[in-house]
Amino acid sequence: MIDRILDRLRDRYGPPSVHRRLAPLDELVLTILSQNTSDTNCERAYASMRARFPEWSDVRDADTADLEEALRPGGLARQKAPRIQAVLRELSADGGRPRLGWAAELAPADAMARLESLPGVGPKTASCVLLFSLDVPVMPVDTHVGRVARRLGLIPERMADGPAHAALTALVPDARMLEAHLLLITHGRRICVARRPRCGECPLLDLCPYGPSALGVAAAGGPSHLRLARGQEG
Ligand code: SF4
Repeated sequence: MIDRILDRLRDRYGPPSVHRRLAPLDELVLTILSQNTSDTNCERAYASMRARFPEWSDVRDADTADLEEALRPGGLARQKAPRIQAVLRELSADGGRPRLGWAAELAPADAMARLESLPGVGPKTASCVLLFSLDVPVMPVDTHVGRVARRLGLIPERMADGPAHAALTALVPDARMLEAHLLLITHGRRICVARRPRCGECPLLDLCPYGPSALGVAAAGGPSHLRLARGQEG
């Protein structure tokens, strides 16, 4: 089933373009910065921070107010500056420079657990670092991946995002993990959108337990009878 879904999404959208590849620590900090802001603002904040503090040890040891100022273009700088410094301190607890290369040497579940033990790092951030930076086959579940997976019945409707990471990681073949992540996001942005999924245009309609009822009710009287909020942003 999952291969059929991915094959059809690939036919519709084409092979997903290769994601940026950063060093693990860069990916971790960038993912923290991306929380609750746009990609553009996140990248501005990251560039501003790296220009002012070129080394991760510089970021760690900076006056927090100075780091906040550098991060201001990204929003939520007052929360993110101390969080990033706390993570960097944790990653240099041996007294050296902050390091994250050890994540590549651990089993995926152990690497996830170790990353999630860092301050403010949850399963989505941890799995982004492992998948994007180290090619470890774990599935990051963002709002689009979670919504599409729930509607398709790949995970239970009421399953929270935390357990959904493990469930989707187990479901998707390792070799297709990154492709699956990117295709599900594209599908969630273009067709299986949060409020009014365009099921009539969807290449997965015959595989989807949610789509036919959504279409039928929409035809019968509009979205007021639909549970269109099902699976939308959390
Ligand atoms: S049929 Fe509708 S609900 Fe199902 S995956 Fe497609 S767009 Fe989403």
